[in-house]
Amino acid sequence: MKKIIKNGIIVTAADTYKADILIENEKIGLIGQDLSDPGAEVIDAEGHYVFPGGVDPHTHLEMPFGGTVSKDDFETGTIAAAHGGTTTVIDFCLTNKGEPLQNSIDQWHAKSKDKSVIDYSFHLMVGEMNDAVIDQLPSVIEDEGITSFKVFMAYKNVFQADDETLFRTLEEAKRLGALVMVHAENGDVIDHLVKKALQEGNTDPIYHALTRPPEAEGEATGRAAQLTGLADSQLYVVHVSCQEAVERISEARKKGYDVWGETCPQYLVLDQSYLEKPNFEGAKYVWSPPLREKFNQEVLWNALKNGELQTLGSDQCSFDFSGQKDLGKGDFTKIPNGGPIIEDRISILFSEGVKKGRITLNQFVDITSTRVAKTFGLFPQKGTITVGADADLVIFDPTVERTISVETSHMAADYNPFEGMEVTGQPVSVLSRGEFVVRDKEFVGKLGSGKYLKRARYGDFKLSSEEQLTIK
Ligand SMILES: [Zn+2]
Repeated sequence: MKKIIKNGIIVTAADTYKADILIENEKIGLIGQDLSDPGAEVIDAEGHYVFPGGVDPHTHLEMPFGGTVSKDDFETGTIAAAHGGTTTVIDFCLTNKGEPLQNSIDQWHAKSKDKSVIDYSFHLMVGEMNDAVIDQLPSVIEDEGITSFKVFMAYKNVFQADDETLFRTLEEAKRLGALVMVHAENGDVIDHLVKKALQEGNTDPIYHALTRPPEAEGEATGRAAQLTGLADSQLYVVHVSCQEAVERISEARKKGYDVWGETCPQYLVLDQSYLEKPNFEGAKYVWSPPLREKFNQEVLWNALKNGELQTLGSDQCSFDFSGQKDLGKGDFTKIPNGGPIIEDRISILFSEGVKKGRITLNQFVDITSTRVAKTFGLFPQKGTITVGADADLVIFDPTVERTISVETSHMAADYNPFEGMEVTGQPVSVLSRGEFVVRDKEFVGKLGSGKYLKRARYGDFKLSSEEQLTIK
């Protein structure tokens, strides 16, 4: 059925204006003044913003980690994402050395396809780069539409790849038209610092942060950026947390290297002191990179404002405090890394960013949606409000004041790291391809209604007709 969203203020990465939107056949059919259609349902958005649905470039739903599995799966995780104004997630498909990549991709399809309530796509982790892997990459890109590869420079003996793997991945990405993503921390140095801490009997959660210093992130970020320049390739640094890493990205961009940076809401509003909370509660804030000293928050806000960092991911990877995080009592290295963030990503950036004058409303849309869609080959099908784009829309009340709490959250974990935080603004209704997923703050979507998205090659634009227009 057709729908018309009337009287809302449309906000894109470029413009803010009042207009109506006609939705037809899952897409935006028309934008204009005083639209009417006798067959259309009318939705009044007076006093509300209408944003393009958020695109979260960084989630770990139902991901095995440290002997357990992240709590939010593609059901609870995408329902929570929708409540938070996100209509597309790109999740990380993990792989195992020596095994066919397709096996891992099939596993990720199996756990998402009957559950996801919003559209989704995958990045592929690369743990080794040899002839056998290289042979499989064309099919990963062409058949699966997976055009981004993730390399871990940390988690020694688990996910960590060596520099040869990173460099060869950059070369292959250049050749095939993919984007290389890095978790940039020096895993060898961290491994040494961790061993030393444990030998000295330092087992509390705060040592998670103290053994992963900002220099280790800055060094790995700089190394990855240099190797990107050498390979004349393209790089996206996930979850940038500190000044040292921002500086390395900024330097690389000034040299003309094709290097992008993402930060996450947790680094913008929380700091290292949270890991010192008593009764082991610091474990709720254990993820990597760790929370940093408070002055880094302003560095990250400024980097978003001036474009040194371009996107906001949630790095959603939730674990219960009770039964999962507490696996690390008496040994911080056994605390599963990650937190429940997916639902609050957009609200925090709006409230702390736009409302506090740190970024503009249009920057906010760019950072949470448009730039992500462009970087990961989903634009203009996703990430903007334009005729022909998917009708993924968020009707947002910019005035409501509320307190973030686990009590009202839709994520599955038993705590919320932003508990008690006062925010202004909230998504009221959220549509995915023209259908309500959330209506008047109630979930009305359908499990399995989310579609898997094949993405365009890096630098290409994806048209809604599945045609691809090369702009290089
Ligand atoms: Zn992550």
